[in-house]
Amino acid sequence: MAWGGGWGGPGPVAGGHHSATANGLPFGGIPEELMEEATRLLATEPERPLSRQPFHQRPSVAERRRLSLWALVGVYPRLLYGASAIVLLASLLLQAGPKITEYAVNHGMLPGHHSLTVIALSGVAYLVIAVVTAILQRLQTDLTGRLASRVMHDLRIRVFTHFQRLSLDFFTDEKAGVLMSRMTSDIENLQQLVQDGISQFATQGLTMITITVILFLTNVTLAAWTVLLVVPVLFVMSLWFHHASQRGYLLSRDRIATVLADLSESLYGIRVVTAHNRQRRNIRNHRHVLGAYRDANVYTGRVSAIYGPGTIMVGILAQGLLLGIGGHLVLQHRLTFGALIAFFLYLNRFFQPIQLLVQQYSALQQGRSSIIRLRELLETPPSVDDRDDAHELGPIEGRIRFEHVTFGYDSEHPVIEDVDLEIAPGESVAFVGPTGAGKSTLAKLVNRFYDPTAGRVLVDDVDVREVTLRSLRSQLAVVPQEPFLFAGSIRSNLVFGRPDATVDEVRHAVELVGLDDLVDRLPQGLDTVVHERGQTLSAGERQLLALARAFLARPRVLILDEATSSLDLQSEIVVEHALDRVLDGRTAILIAHRLTTAQRADRIVVVDEGRVVEVGTPERLRRAGGAYARMYDAWVAAGGRDVTREGA
Ligand code: ADP
Repeated sequence: MAWGGGWGGPGPVAGGHHSATANGLPFGGIPEELMEEATRLLATEPERPLSRQPFHQRPSVAERRRLSLWALVGVYPRLLYGASAIVLLASLLLQAGPKITEYAVNHGMLPGHHSLTVIALSGVAYLVIAVVTAILQRLQTDLTGRLASRVMHDLRIRVFTHFQRLSLDFFTDEKAGVLMSRMTSDIENLQQLVQDGISQFATQGLTMITITVILFLTNVTLAAWTVLLVVPVLFVMSLWFHHASQRGYLLSRDRIATVLADLSESLYGIRVVTAHNRQRRNIRNHRHVLGAYRDANVYTGRVSAIYGPGTIMVGILAQGLLLGIGGHLVLQHRLTFGALIAFFLYLNRFFQPIQLLVQQYSALQQGRSSIIRLRELLETPPSVDDRDDAHELGPIEGRIRFEHVTFGYDSEHPVIEDVDLEIAPGESVAFVGPTGAGKSTLAKLVNRFYDPTAGRVLVDDVDVREVTLRSLRSQLAVVPQEPFLFAGSIRSNLVFGRPDATVDEVRHAVELVGLDDLVDRLPQGLDTVVHERGQTLSAGERQLLALARAFLARPRVLILDEATSSLDLQSEIVVEHALDRVLDGRTAILIAHRLTTAQRADRIVVVDEGRVVEVGTPERLRRAGGAYARMYDAWVAAGGRDVTREGA
């Protein structure tokens, strides 16, 4: 159930020392003399339960629940009710002070009522209550802090799980930056809200209610004057402040975004900027956007400068007036001296919550919009999903058929039109054609990155939409144009598709693609950490790693989007050689940018403007004098390696 507590614990990723080497330092083990200390430290490490929910393509019942703050915190009823009870108790106890003062004045200090005992006891009571309140507040902060951390942890997992579930189109439509901000600023907004916002809001609200009740119980006339004089003015001022500060907040948020955009453009584009002598102009422009941001900040500052002192002023004016009225009441013996003091003590506490409530209200609103944005995200269904009646795809032979397939990324512009094509088990087929013809798109339909708008894609005579995504994709491997290497060792990158691969299998894959020389040369061999997405490796080596990764996944069908960046002749030959071995006996779709690759395929499919225009063996197409023959001749004329002659 738990991991992370011991070295040998089965980590969620292959390679337990993953994180230790993530910073690029070799992991040399723990020195003998430090072992004891390390063990002791580990014993105190909290155990982190592995996510209780294994990943399912379909969201669980809990995950399908509509996202709301109550649904989130409701999962922890004990923390929630505990915190609420304490908030209630603390806000009541907080208001005991003035009442005790009133008692001490009326029964211990007034002429004829002198009593040191009463004063001393009142003092002690005051102290005890203050201490109890402080303890309660500490407990409250502790509970709400724990509640907030747990709730946000759950939410983060939920959002991340949903990201993993969503289909590719979602990530092309949404910018990564926007998605990151959902994970960071929106969730942090909510964390703040659960941790402080709601309890503060409740505390201040309760305080206001309690004090209003106490004021009326102390003296109805004075209380009525207070409510009549102060509340409407403060209310109007607060409303104004709320609107003005909201405007300022939005303004400065938009403007800082512009500043950051301008900054990052200037930094990333510094070469172009310098080359085109744009520095002066850039400075002028940046000064302009910075000026706008400053204005927004000045505005916000001015609003606060009016509201803060303004409300204090209103409070003081009201107190002056109430002192007159209250003093009059005392002289008429309609109010005790102690009650007047208590009243004024409460009055001070009465103004503050109004101001705080307004501020908390803004936080609540921000939290609300964060919830709405996250809800929209969580309610976006994957466009490609398992059907309810999806079944497991058994081991396949590797026959692929496109049946009158039409597809467009948006409904108006079809990118693939009425494609009919059959690929036999074990056959390698090269898609060639101009850039943007739809070659990659065709390939993406096979492993259901997208679903066709019309027609069917069949694998071993089964419509790919009828089987589970998991069982389908486990038998197809994709080598993308730009092989992505994850942070970690070469080994963990290789076993990515099949974490249970044995050492021998990994070694075999490495030898098969001809990377054994490289691995032997590296200081830590397979455990060498790749830096910066493998930037320390050459383009050819990255491709070979991607090929080995695909090979280890033991797919029946391999889809390879060839890298467009030209490799040097040497690497090209190595990669082609590796490719031949990996493809041996497998069905393969090669999106060929180099005609050398195309020439090695069993058959060539020429794609143009979303349609298949020619199909045939390389030999036949070259002689047929069609589109492929023209491409081939142009390529040879441009100095391409004439494979046929070479091979002959
Ligand atoms: P090829 O692989 O032949 O170069 P693609 O299949 O990548 O061509 O692209 C075919 C067409 O679809 C192009 O016009 C391209 O602009 C468009 N396209 C590719 N990917 C997307 C996408 N994710 N969203 C919208 N249009 C896309």
